[in-house]
This record gives sequence, structure tokens and C-alpha cells, in this order.
Amino acid sequence: MADFEIPETHEFPVIPTVMEGVMSHSAPFLAKAQFQEQLGFPGDAGLIDGWKEVFLEKLGEMLGKYRSLQVFMDICVKCGACTDKCHYFLGTGDAKNMPVARQDLLRKVYRRYFTFAGKYFPKLVGAVDLTEEVVNEMYSYYHQCSECRRCSVFCPYGIDTAEVTMAARDILAHVGMGSKYSNEIIGKVFKIGNNLGLPEPALADTLEGLEEEVEEDIGVKVRYPLDEKGADILLVTPSADFFAEPHVDGLIGYGKVFHAAGVSWTISSKASEAANFGLFIGNYENMREISLRIRDAAKELGVKRIIFGECGHAWRVAYSFLNTLAGPWDFLDPNYPVPQHILDFTSDCLDRGILNIDKSENDWMTLTFHDSCNVARASRIGSYPGSQFEIPRKVIKAVCNNFYDMAPETIHDATFCCGGGGGLLTDDLMELRLKGALPRMEALKNVIDDKGVTHMAAICAICKSQFTKVLPYYGMTMDQIVSVHQLVSSAIILEGQGDEDDAEADTDEAA
Ligand code: SF4
Ligand code: SF4
Repeated sequence: MADFEIPETHEFPVIPTVMEGVMSHSAPFLAKAQFQEQLGFPGDAGLIDGWKEVFLEKLGEMLGKYRSLQVFMDICVKCGACTDKCHYFLGTGDAKNMPVARQDLLRKVYRRYFTFAGKYFPKLVGAVDLTEEVVNEMYSYYHQCSECRRCSVFCPYGIDTAEVTMAARDILAHVGMGSKYSNEIIGKVFKIGNNLGLPEPALADTLEGLEEEVEEDIGVKVRYPLDEKGADILLVTPSADFFAEPHVDGLIGYGKVFHAAGVSWTISSKASEAANFGLFIGNYENMREISLRIRDAAKELGVKRIIFGECGHAWRVAYSFLNTLAGPWDFLDPNYPVPQHILDFTSDCLDRGILNIDKSENDWMTLTFHDSCNVARASRIGSYPGSQFEIPRKVIKAVCNNFYDMAPETIHDATFCCGGGGGLLTDDLMELRLKGALPRMEALKNVIDDKGVTHMAAICAICKSQFTKVLPYYGMTMDQIVSVHQLVSSAIILEGQGDEDDAEADTDEAA
């Protein structure tokens, strides 16, 4: 078990006693030169020569480029509405995990060097000199924010701490302080095509194995194709879907839905990763380079549509930025959304009555649903406001008889982060991840106690991985987290499915 205390759960979130610096030791490993260079950043796990000038130059450049950042630096009135809204503050009690305090780490430097009052009367306006100590503090606390945007929902001025965190991380990477976890993963995507570093032959083997497994299980040959030119749909999904539980059960589900819908589809070995950690490090050049692989793959394969699998931040990048970063997508079929979410596709199939569903297959479970931050607060899944909340629930209810939502103040746009998003899903941040999961664990426990919920469904690879890890620390089991398309997969009955069993039963009867 952990060598730190797991916070106690309560029926309602308890605002912790504010403590100074209790999480100041928490920071991810710094990226060495090999992981910095491949992303175009300088340094070797520490500040570069002349870092101060580079820091201020980069901050100035960003203030000019992103008006939102300039506005966020200027308009906070310290009303305090955001202070108790961050899961990392609720789980750790560290004062600097209050969103306003997190923003202030950069704001104080901004004031000192970019405002008249800060230049001449720093003490009066809380401005501070840019020192090594200040930068180290930023590295620590800007890696205690999962860029979940929950605080922005409650800020009367709409200040988005996630954007401040992204800007700070990008500046830090430019002065030699990049995160090893995120930068190493982005490098793997550039070199091999996915976060896991799974090369094309291994991916082909995995998908072949999956086809055999499904055929053995249901007696129907469901295809999981790779690099098939001329397929209608390119599926871009998180690489965790290729083997890890419960992710792979979701991928099995997508394949069954495509099979039932009678569409041709393929995965691409060039773009075998939906995740885009460029978002986490706040660097649009890297985000763009990762996105361009999808464009290249779609063009090479000649597909008509692009569908994204269950991945929260990947969907946020796809929904909000794909067109700007890698568009125009005028070579795709304009009759379909670019891109489309797999849940939108499945929901449409359900509406058209082309899926044969037996809900009773999921009767052994009672479900709840975790809204993933990047879907809930940064995108839609369908075409109307709130569709990102309704469509996942509609699909779950179409394939399960037993469903209960968690408390209203913990779902939809007020959802609590899993605790591992935003580039923090690394073992060097385990204390933060476990403590940050507290509010979600409390809400889940309540619905388990009150409604007999047995499982929680999610549509994000990071959420699923994080919950698999943290559930046991809170007295639950890792298999209580499931993919939404895992539920679809269990309930869907494909043509020909069970025919062999029926034939065997007939033979037995005749005998
Ligand atoms: S964006 Fe999320 S993690 Fe970051 S400060 Fe706001 S509530 Fe906390
Ligand atoms: S809610 Fe908004 S304005 Fe109020 S303290 Fe927080 S960031 Fe500042």
C-alpha cells in the first residue's frame, strides 16, 4: 500500500484545513536532453543557461499571441469562488492547489515584468522576482493541475486555469524543465506512431489475435482491420485499447458495432494513437505534428470518415483543434461530422434500429457513469448543447437495465476529474493521483451504498487507467471500471451469433 495517508471519504466533500506546502515535494521527473530534443526543447533535466531571459521572452510572446492568457492574468478579482472546486485541493489541502493560487504563481511574475505597478511597486500588487525557487514551485504546482477546467465553471469571469497551466508548462519546457513522462510519450508517437511504442507488426498480431478471440467467443468473424486502403472509416483510438483491460473490451465493442452496421473500417499503423499529449504540455507545434499523422493516414488510406474511440483529451483535441491544426478535411465525405465520436456513431445505429440488443446480458451489473472532464467541459459528442452528457447515458441505458447517476453536483459539467488527467498519469505522481481522486471516489461510494451500483463506466483511456489503479486504495476493486463499448459489446447480438450453440443443442436433443 501507499507510504502516505489515503484521505478519508465522506458523504459530502469536506473542505480541508488549508495547509501551506504539504504537496511542495510533488513533481514529475524532469525530461533529460534526449526527451527534450525530440520535441524541439532545450536543456537536460534542469534550467538552461540564460533561462530567465528565455522565460520572460516566451511569456511575452504568449501574452501577445493568446489574448485569453493576457485577460486571465488581468481580470481575477480574488472572489474565492474557485478555491474549493479543485479535486487536488480537496484531496491534499495544499493552499497552492486552490485554482486562484495556482494561477497566481504565473500572475505574480507577469505583474512584476509586464505591468507598470509591478515594475515600480511590486510589493503593493503582489509581484515577485523570477527566481529559481519561483520556477521550481511552478514546476511542482503546474504539474498538480490536470487541466480539467472544473474551476472555470465556477469562476464568474470564466478564467480557465487549464490554459494558464498549459502556458506555464510550455514556458517551463522552453527553459529546460519539461516533464519526462509527457515528452517521452510524445517522442514515441513521433517515432513509432503510438504512446506505447507498439510497432506495426506487433499491432497487426494484436488485432489478428483479437479477431480469433471474438470468433471463439461468439462464433462470428468480426474484423479488426489494419491499414486497409479504401475502407470507409478510419478509427483513431487510444493505444490502450489494443490490449489493456478494460480498454480492449471497448475496442471489441466498436468492431461489433461496425460489423452490425455493415460499414468498412480500418485502423492505421501510422496513426495508431488517438492521444495527443501536445495538449498536456501546452505546445501547439507538437499538438499539430501529432494531429498531422491522422491527416496523412486518412489521405493514404483514402477513407471517407474519421471516427475517434473512447479517449477524453484526444476527443477534446479532435473536436476543438483538429480542423485548425490539420485541416481542411475537404477530401472526406461532407455528409458526416469531421471528426465523429464512436458514441455518436453507435447512438445513431441505435436510433436507426440496426443493432440487435439484449440488455439482460448486462443485468449482473448496476452502472453509473463518470463524465470525463475533456468531453464534459470542452466538447460535444453530438450536435446539440448537452449532447456530451446525454449520448453516453442514452447508449448505456440502451444496453443496460440498471443505471443510476452519481450526485448532480459531481456529474455533467461539474464532474470531478479522475485525478490522473492532464499528463499526470505517471507513477512518480502517485500520491497526487490518489489524493486527487478523493471527490470522485466519495461520489461513487455514495451511489454504491444508496443504489447498489456495482460498476462505473467511462469513455476515457486515462480515466479508465487511473481508476484501475486507485479503486483498490479506496476499498473497491479494479474491475469495477468498465468501458461504455464493453457494455455495448456484451449486449449486442450479431447475425449468426450463437448459431453453433443452437446447432449443438439441437444435436443433443435429437440424441
Ligand atoms: S483546471 Fe482542474 S486541476 Fe486545474 S486548478 Fe482547475 S480544478 Fe484544479
Ligand atoms: S473564481 Fe475566478 S475571479 Fe474568483 S478567485 Fe477564482 S479565478 Fe479569480
